[in-house]
Amino acid sequence: MKLHEFQAKGFLRDYGIPVPEGRPATTPAEARAIAASIGCPVMVKAQVLVGGRGKAGGVKMAKSPEEAEALASRILGMSIKGIVVQRVLIAAAVDIAAEFYMSLAVDRSGKAVQCIASASGGMDIEEIAAKQPERIVRFALDPWAGPVRQAHFAKLASAFSGDGLADQAWTFLESMYRLFSEKDCSLVEINPCAKTPAGKLIAADAKVIFDDNALFRHPELENLRSPEEYGVDEMDARSNGLSYVGLDGTIGCIVNGAGLSMATMDLIKFFGGSPANFLDVGGSSSPEKVLNALRIILKHSGLTAILINIFGGITRCDDIARGIIMARERLSIPVPLVIRLIGTNETEGRAILKAAGIDAYEDLTDAVKGVVARAGAGAGSADGKGARA
Ligand code: GDP
Ligand code: MN
Repeated sequence: MKLHEFQAKGFLRDYGIPVPEGRPATTPAEARAIAASIGCPVMVKAQVLVGGRGKAGGVKMAKSPEEAEALASRILGMSIKGIVVQRVLIAAAVDIAAEFYMSLAVDRSGKAVQCIASASGGMDIEEIAAKQPERIVRFALDPWAGPVRQAHFAKLASAFSGDGLADQAWTFLESMYRLFSEKDCSLVEINPCAKTPAGKLIAADAKVIFDDNALFRHPELENLRSPEEYGVDEMDARSNGLSYVGLDGTIGCIVNGAGLSMATMDLIKFFGGSPANFLDVGGSSSPEKVLNALRIILKHSGLTAILINIFGGITRCDDIARGIIMARERLSIPVPLVIRLIGTNETEGRAILKAAGIDAYEDLTDAVKGVVARAGAGAGSADGKGARA
C-alpha cells in the first residue's frame, strides 16, 4: 500500500525526522490560503502515487500565495503518467544546498532490510545506480542482529561526508528503521534528503510503502489507502472480500481460488480467448459474493462473455448457484454466461440452476472452449439466458 507524499511525511515527522511544514489542498483557493499561512516561498507538489513528478512539471516553487494559487490551478487536473492530479501538497520550500538519497527497502535475496544512501540525491535511484554506481552505499540491516548498529555508521558516513551530516544521517536512519519495522513497511525513502545552507538535513520528499501482507496487524492504516493505487473497481472488489485485477481482454472470469483463477486464464488464452480480469471469489463464497463479482465484472468495457468456474471445496456449489440466480434477477447481463460447476453440493447447485433453465458444464476444457466460442461470436449474440446459461 503506497502513501502519498503528505501522508508519508506525516509518519516521518511522527518518528522524529524533520520535514518542511505543509498541508494538502484540493483547490487553488485552498492552496493560496495554505501558502499564506505557512509563508512563502512554498513548493506546490502534485500528490500522485508515481515518481518523477518533478520532471513531469508537477513540482513548482511559488514566491507568493497568488503564485501558489496559479500553480495549483495548473497542476490540479494535470495528468502525470496517466494519473490525474486531484491534490497538491503546499509545503515550505527548503533552501537546498545539497541533495542526498536515503532509503530502507526489503532486500528479498539478502533476506534483510537494505539501506541505500548516496550523496547524489534528487534523481531516481536507478539513474544514480547507472550513472554513478561508485556514489552509492548499500548495506544490510540484519534483522536477527537487532536494529541499526554502530557497525553501519562508517558506511553511512562515507555517503554523508561533511560536518555533522553523518551524525544527522545516523539519527535519520534510526528513525527510518523504527518506522520501517514498527509499521511493517517495504519501502521508506527520502529523496531528496536536503541539506540546508545551515548544514541541517531535512526530508524534502518522502515515499512510504506498507507491506500489504502485514496490514492485518495495523487496521488503523487501512483508511490511508488511495483508490488511485488500485483503481475504483479493485477497491470495490476488495471491500467485498474479492481479489480482482482488471485486464484488457473480453472474457470476464469468476473463479474460486487464486491457483484455479490463473489456470483458467491460461486455458482461455490457450483456446484463443483473452481474459478481461482476474477474480478470485475465495473460499466460503456466499451468494452475495457472486452477485458482487458479476456486478464488478459487468462494468468492464468490451466484455463479450463471462465464465464462472467453480471447483467446490469449502466453497459450496449451491451457494454459487443461488448467487447466480440472484444476479440474474438483479442485474442486466447482456453477454453469454458460461458456468462450470463441480465439487461440494454439486447436485444441489445444478438442481438450482436447472430449475432456472441454466445448464452447467462439468469439464473445465469444455467450458473454456464454450466461452471462447461464444465470446468470439460477439456481444449480444445471446442474452445470457439461453443455452448454457
Ligand atoms: P519527485 O520528482 O516526484 O521525486 O519529487 P521531489 O519532491 O523529489 O521534487 C523534485 C525536485 O524538486 C527535487 O529533487 C528538488 O530538486 C526540487 N524540490 C523539491 N522540493 C524542494 C524544496 O523544498 N526546495 C527546493 N529548492 N527544491 C525542491
Ligand atoms: Mn523525490
